[in-house]
Amino acid sequence: MDTKIAVIGAGLAGLTLASRLQSVADVTLFEKSRGLGGRMAERRRGDHRFDHGAQYFTARDPAFLSLTAEMTRLGATAMWPVMIDDRRPGAPVSSEARYVGTPGMNGMARRLGRGLNITLETEISAIQPDDRRWLLVDKAGAALGVFDWVISTAPAPQTARLMPSEFSAGARLAQVRMSGCFTLMIGLDRAPELNAEAIRAHHPVVGWIALNSSKPGRDGPPCLVVHSRNDWADTHMENDRDWIEKELLAGVVELTGEDFSNAPHRDLHRWRFANVETPLGAPFLIDAGLGLAAAGDWCLGGRVECAFQSASSLSQAIAKHLGET
Ligand SMILES: Cc1cc2nc3c(=O)[nH]c(=O)nc-3n(C[C@H](O)[C@H](O)[C@H](O)COP(=O)(O)OP(=O)(O)OC[C@H]3O[C@@H](n4cnc5c(N)ncnc54)[C@H](O)[C@@H]3O)c2cc1C
Repeated sequence: MDTKIAVIGAGLAGLTLASRLQSVADVTLFEKSRGLGGRMAERRRGDHRFDHGAQYFTARDPAFLSLTAEMTRLGATAMWPVMIDDRRPGAPVSSEARYVGTPGMNGMARRLGRGLNITLETEISAIQPDDRRWLLVDKAGAALGVFDWVISTAPAPQTARLMPSEFSAGARLAQVRMSGCFTLMIGLDRAPELNAEAIRAHHPVVGWIALNSSKPGRDGPPCLVVHSRNDWADTHMENDRDWIEKELLAGVVELTGEDFSNAPHRDLHRWRFANVETPLGAPFLIDAGLGLAAAGDWCLGGRVECAFQSASSLSQAIAKHLGET
């Protein structure tokens, strides 16, 4: 247990790595935000509960199916028997089970984080060489300790900025392309008249509308989560927030016939890196000689399950390496 590992990011990838490596190393997880889950996010406003990042996840890999079953047994995830009104021409009909975290999308992350050594509200800004190990420095310039291994699970463009120039796999990070998303959260005091719990739109601005309060464990008042299209978000990433909100509200009127511009609660979130357009095409990046590695959904595709698969493969590779040295 002499090996010290720092994991950057407490989304599903970082939490999977930390929980799997803690039996073979002394692991510390650093997360810049106040809570766990990363893009498996939940925001509460009054009694309204919004999953403003990932909407649901599917599980195909046997190891992820088994984790999902365990989390469901523990009450941290549940199946969402959602009826989706898919308006995309020729969209395939899917009968796959869809799961959500409970009571919010970050339910699984909160459960996985139990018992781990996690430092929240700490943004890593530099990884500096220190006598064949790595010194982590936070945004304020404070030294956070020296580690044998540093693993970044931040989205690829952020990992690329963080990794020291010595990282031999660094150039491959530049090949990954991620896209953004705007999320409009609408809190209501009466149930909207929709013919399904979610709409997958075929629209120039709006990509998805969900009646978030229809998910299991959300016992608050009705609320909607609206996602923009990723390409639209990239084009308008720096636009005025009021304009973005108006465009999304106008799209919702076109798609549902309902005007929510006077809803009791509205909130907009900007995801600079939401989805993965061009994945790495390999489960992780590693430079075992230097003790540097990176993982996350961006290695395999923009899905929760891909974050798990990437982190799970990397944890096996590092555990094997530690066992051999
Ligand atoms: C709007 C939206 C909708 C989505 N919908 C779906 C969906 O329906 N189904 C699905 O399967 N997937 C969906 N996804 C994708 C899914 O959320 C991701 O694939 C998954 O959550 C990624 O997990 P991760 O651990 O790889 O990354 P993240 O969850 O992004 O975790 C990375 C963590 O690193 C932290 N971090 C970054 N930089 C630093 C730093 N310098 N110092 C410290 N911490 C740092 C971040 O705060 C974050 O917590 C969606 C995502 C978004 C944003």
